[in-house]
Amino acid sequence: MKLNLDIQPLSSWITPVNQPLLIAGPCSAETEDQLVATAHLLKATGKVTALRAGIWKPRTRPGEFEGIGSIGLEWLKRAKAETGLPTAVEVATAKHVEEALAAGVDILWVGARSTANPFTVQEIADALKGVDIPVMVKNPVNPDISLWIGALERINNAGVKKLAAIHRGFSSYEKSAFRNEPMWDIAIHMKTLAPHLPIICDPSHISGNRDLIPYISQKALDLDMQGLMIESHIDPSVAWTDAKQQVTPAALATLVSNLTLRKPET
Ligand code: PEP
Ligand code: MN
Repeated sequence: MKLNLDIQPLSSWITPVNQPLLIAGPCSAETEDQLVATAHLLKATGKVTALRAGIWKPRTRPGEFEGIGSIGLEWLKRAKAETGLPTAVEVATAKHVEEALAAGVDILWVGARSTANPFTVQEIADALKGVDIPVMVKNPVNPDISLWIGALERINNAGVKKLAAIHRGFSSYEKSAFRNEPMWDIAIHMKTLAPHLPIICDPSHISGNRDLIPYISQKALDLDMQGLMIESHIDPSVAWTDAKQQVTPAALATLVSNLTLRKPET
């Protein structure tokens, strides 16, 4: 089986400032100062191509921080105006899509909990009809490649051609070193089904722990993934979400400098 996705190459919609392609930023936008200051430090590394920040956060259980909401779009606008970094946010409803588009967000992504729900994905896809914006689709929380494929197809069927997949690992009931099992074979399978589909790895959500991020990042590059999305916070120790897995912009720069890129084929 091959997937019949009608997509444009990654190079037509994003130009990496450095190799590997790196999308970085806080798990959550918390305050205007935190987001803008983090963006400046990330920009200063010279390694970051786009700024990520979650403003609508689908939490597995209630009672935790569920995102700063629409005001975060204004902060992203400021971060972009001051640093020149294109911005990326997670969207989980049609309203999120409309608001993000109206605010000039550059890249949208669908989160792992949304990818697991075809009605949600279809709602997002319908809101994207006729809109030319890059969309990245995270794998679903559960290790079901069909749900991942289905979500990519729904978004592509809506006319989105600037499409990428994000590998962020899979939930497991077993205890493991990882927050989400990488199950690399699923990402490899996706590559064989859709050789032209860019796959970006999210080592932060696979690891759940900043110490593992270098190993996961290197493995992703060794498997020829096209980029990395890594969570970075100006002060991870006080982060409102995913504190254990976030890295400072300085640590991110070191981590990325230590990665070995795959040699181009001669
Ligand atoms: C995130 O990117 O912060 C996030 C919530 O990720 P995921 O959807 O992969 O859990
Ligand atoms: Mn996160």
